[in-house]
This record gives sequence, C-alpha cells and structure tokens, in this order.
Amino acid sequence: MLAAPLRRGSFGLQTIALARRSYIEIANLLHERQLRGKISQSRTLPNRRNYHSRPPLRQQCRSIEEVSTVLGQYKSSVEFPSATHSFTDLLQNANSGDTVIIHGYLGHRADLSKKLSFVRITDTTMRQNIQIISSAKENAHQKLKSISANSPVAIRGTIQTKKGSTGEKERSDIEKIDSLEIQLEDIWPLNEFPKDIIMTPETVFPAEYRYLQLRSDRSLREALQFRSNARRICREELENCSPPFAEIETPLLFKSTPEGAREFLVPTRRKGFAYALPQSPQQYKQILMASGIPRYYQFARCFRDEDLRADRQPEFTQLDLEMSFATGEDVMTIIERVIRKLWSTLLDETPASGPFKRLSYQDAMSRFGSDKPDTRFGMEITRLDYVLPIDLVQKISPLTSPIVEAFKLPCEENDPAKTLDFITRFLDSPAGAAFNNNPDGGPGIFVYDAKKPLHGLMPFGFEAAERVEEILEPDHGDLIVLQARKNVPFAGGSTPLGDLRKALHWEAVKSDIKDAPTGFDFLWIVDFPLFSPTNENEPGQGGAAGLSSTHHPFTAPKSAADVDLLLTDPAAAVADHYDLVVNGVELGGGSRRIHDARVQEIVFREILQMPASRIADFSHLLEALRAGCPPHAGIALGFDRLIAVMLGKESVRDVIAFPKTGKGEDVMVGSPSEMSEELLATYHLRLRQ
Ligand code: ASP
Repeated sequence: MLAAPLRRGSFGLQTIALARRSYIEIANLLHERQLRGKISQSRTLPNRRNYHSRPPLRQQCRSIEEVSTVLGQYKSSVEFPSATHSFTDLLQNANSGDTVIIHGYLGHRADLSKKLSFVRITDTTMRQNIQIISSAKENAHQKLKSISANSPVAIRGTIQTKKGSTGEKERSDIEKIDSLEIQLEDIWPLNEFPKDIIMTPETVFPAEYRYLQLRSDRSLREALQFRSNARRICREELENCSPPFAEIETPLLFKSTPEGAREFLVPTRRKGFAYALPQSPQQYKQILMASGIPRYYQFARCFRDEDLRADRQPEFTQLDLEMSFATGEDVMTIIERVIRKLWSTLLDETPASGPFKRLSYQDAMSRFGSDKPDTRFGMEITRLDYVLPIDLVQKISPLTSPIVEAFKLPCEENDPAKTLDFITRFLDSPAGAAFNNNPDGGPGIFVYDAKKPLHGLMPFGFEAAERVEEILEPDHGDLIVLQARKNVPFAGGSTPLGDLRKALHWEAVKSDIKDAPTGFDFLWIVDFPLFSPTNENEPGQGGAAGLSSTHHPFTAPKSAADVDLLLTDPAAAVADHYDLVVNGVELGGGSRRIHDARVQEIVFREILQMPASRIADFSHLLEALRAGCPPHAGIALGFDRLIAVMLGKESVRDVIAFPKTGKGEDVMVGSPSEMSEELLATYHLRLRQ
C-alpha cells in the first residue's frame, strides 16, 4: 500500500500521510488540486463572476509544514470544553472566585503593558460582553495575544468583582456587563477571524457576504429570532383551537397545473418528465379536507416565477390553513385570533377590540383606489365628473366620458407656494413620470389659495368650484388632485389615482408636510369579483373566455345569486374571497372553495373555457371533491410580509435569512447557476439556439 502511486484527483488525509516523505510530490499534488479546482470551477460556474465581485477562494495550503500546522490548530479547536455558564448564568449564579468556562467572540485587545492585557468577550448571541483580564503569570497570556479580534474562543477563568474599566470602545448594540470580570486562565482559539475582513459597526457588507451582514447587524439576527417566536405563537394558537389544527407537510415536488401563477419546473431523469414546485399547497390542502382532516395548517414554502415586483421573492413562506365544515367567516375569526395573539404577545399592542373592519373591493377601489389601502391617513377619493365642466375634463383627459375622481392632500403649513413647490418637485422627479405619462391623461393639480380668484379653482368655473369646495372642504394651501380613468368596472389591484394617493402621501411624510401615520389598521377586503379580465402578463388558467380567476379557480361564488350569474354574466359574480390588509399591505388572502366537483368542472370548462388537457391536470382534485368532500374554506398569510410589517421593516429581505435579490439570485451561493452540457444531458434537455 505504501508503494501505491499517488492517485490523480485524491487529496485525502491518507494521501498526505503517504506522500509526507516527498515535498516535491506534495507540491505537485497541491498544484494539481489547484488546477482541478480551476477547471471544475470554470465548468460548473462559468458566470460566477457575473454574480460575485469577490476573488475566488484563496489557496491556503502551500507546504506540508503548513498543512501540519493547520491540522494541529484544527485539532485543538475540535476538542474544546463545553461552557459552564451562559452570560445570563454568569450574572445570576456566578460568585467571586468561581472557575467558569464561557464561549464567545473575542473583542479588540488592549495591552496595558507586556504583562497585562484587557479584552472583552462577547457572548454567542452577541448581546452582552464581559471583560477578561490576562496577565503574563498565566500561559494563556501569549495564546491570547496570538488570537485576532472577532475570533470565536472558549475561555476558562476565575470570576472576580470588577475593579476598573478599560478595553475596547464599546459597540452601542452590545450590552456591557459591568459587575463582573474574568481573570484568564486558559483560552482555546476555535477558528480565526481573518485580518483582511474589516468588521466595524459602520461596515456595510454586500449581499455576497450575507453571513457577515448577519453577524455584524444585530437587528437582522433579532428579526430571525422574532420570526421564530412568531412561528411558535401561530403554532400554539392554532393547535389550541378545538378541534385543533394539525400541522401537515405537503409535497414540494408537485406537478404543473394552471392554478394562476408561473411555476418553477424541476426536470427529472425520466425523459420528458418534470415536477413543478408548488405555487401554494392549495390543491393538497383541499384534498386533505376530502380526506377527513378537519383542520390543517402548515408553514408552507411556495414558489412563483413572477416578475419580481418590488419586494417579492421567488420562494417565500406562507402560514397556510384550511378548515372543513367551515365558511369564510370561520376562517376570518381564526385569523383575527392569531393576529391578536401575535400582536399582544410580541408587540405588546392589541388591535382594536371587536371583529376587524370590512370593506368591499368596490368600496376600497372607489374610496382609496386600491384593494389594499392604507386607511390611516384619509385622503379619500371622491368621484367628481358629474360636477365638472366638459372643457376641464377635456383638458385633463383624451378619453370620452371618463370617470374623474379627486382627493385632497391637506398641507398643514397652509402655504400655497410651498404646496406648489412640493407637487412640482414630485411630478418632475422620476417617481412622477409614470403619473405624467398616463395615456388616460396626467393628474390635474390645483392648489387651494384663499387669496386667488375662485380660490385657485378658476379652471372649474364658478359653479363647479363651489361644489368642489363643498365636497372636498379644502383649507388654504391644500392640494387637490384630479385624475380621469376609463368608465369601466374596476379590475386589478389599484387605479392610477390610488397609486398617486399613496405615492404623494409617502412623499409628504418624507418632506415633513405630513406626520407619518402610526398604529395598525387591520381590515378585511371582501366581495372581490370572482373573475377578472385576463391579464396578458400573467398565466392565469389559460382559458379562452378572456377571464381569469381573481383569486384562484377553486374560489366559490359568494351567494346563490352569484351562482346564477355564473351562466348569465360571470364577470359580475362576486366571490367569497377575503384579503387581510394592514396599513396598505396585503398580509394574505383566502376564500371559501367550490366543494362540488361538478361545479368546479363547470367553472373550468364553461366559464374559464380551459382546454380539456389543462382540466385533466386537475383530475386528482376533481376526483377528491367527488368523493363526498365537505364544504371548506381557508387562507394563507404571507409569513415573510407579516414579520416585516410587525417589525416595521421596509423589505421582506430584512426578515429572511438568505433572501434572493430583485433579480431572483442568491449572490452569496451564486444561484441560479448555469446548466452544464453534462447536466442537460442527464435530464434529456437541450438548450434552444
Ligand atoms: N392558496 C392561496 C394563495 O396562495 C391561499 C388560499 O386561498 O388559501 O394565495
């Protein structure tokens, strides 16, 4: 065995032992390994540099001596002592003279003399630090001096009451334990924090270094802990119901079905076959209802290959649930209970008592121009076209007989010049471009000015100006915004005026024109249309009717009258669909489901006019409903969004450990990665030219 030649491509411990005698052989081996590394990297990650700006991993082992040193150091970190105390234990239970072992990260050392050093050690949660005193009397003193700041260590020492303070400048986010200090007896370096990584409280790390972002940012780490606590509370609340919700996992390797969103496919080695990742566990959870499971829930991973609009992730987490023998009312009651528990336990804030407010989709769209309105700051929209002179309407819109709506932005300073300056700056900025370029006409802007003829409302004419004053009740310096839109039923999530209301309010808060709204205003948006005109940019159900399901095709009509509308005027049918909204953010949505297989099939075939092949993709669900499935209803809350709202974070990325960028990439690991020819062949795939 000793005489065996070096095998190409192996670099195990055994190989090193065999080759120990010959430095040249080792050098060749390392060189070969280095080359192999380069080759395999360039084959599997040809675009890595597109994702990463960092250099490739540095070659660390250069000689057999260095290899032995590294392994020696590693050995000592493998056998390190367990901690006898957490920092909390130290404060509560440790007495002067006790010998303790603690774990943590070393701070910056202050050498008072050759013989005396101070260093703080931060606990493993990075919340508290304590002072260590090291004197040359102990062997550990030299060891301590060889360890760089931020390195993980284990320390043994004797507790003593604190005599004085010295050492590194404190980090404001780390609490300093003042009452105790530890006289160092021994130290185990557990790994080295490299000198080329500069980590100060001010350092901002790019997404490639997510672990350093997390390590240096306490609020990120705390958000993950908060998320974990929130999960526990949801779980407890649902499992304490009677009957309890059961946590059931459903498959991630699913199949492609036209539920509504674009899916991610997972090719298999079986030629021509692929799984699809679930856009939601919707179909499985309904099948659970047909299976005699009364109440299901799951923290479900969902995958949607959507255009990554602001703050969406291609994979995300839902708190998903379903209840049998239940209606939407039952679901809303349960969710209100979970929300109350979350808010009261984690935020010390209980939402207003009584059921959450409800607003129909029609009312939300006409009063706020949004199906997820922030209802905390007024600026309600009012329809005005019936009071406006034709020539004014023609000035603001090329449309014939449009609907014209307006809102007022109260400007507390009562200074028309300032208001004008504010709105001009906004409309001239990039944020204003989309509103100016609206093909239905840009916004009509008026500043109410008591000192001007007709109070600045001259273009309205005398009569209309008076009516507008009656309706909007503006004060001196307030802004009035008019906007035309086509005279057609509401569809989609917002109107341009609704978007402008939100954008201007946001801008007014930033510019100190308005105070930021506070508190949480929960509301259910209900009575959505069952179907909406098909949007070319979304896959929908691929039916020929020009309609797609607003929520998903399993949503039930709201009333018996809506059932009748299915055949006469499906576009007018209202759905038993409810969205939970808080402060302008949609936390989630659900619906009562069609539990009758025949009706479900009518929706697929007659209403949506889906091709037979796509209906067949749902045959498992139809069969399950046909097997006497009880009525059922459910909901899914976007869990990432929920946590972000609770913590007041602007982006869901701040509450996800490893989020993807706006391009759907994880730049830390370099995903997605390009498929090699070899991989393509494995899945019987070929790239189109
Ligand atoms: N599956 C739905 C969604 O992901 C939620 C539900 O209807 O329960 O939006």
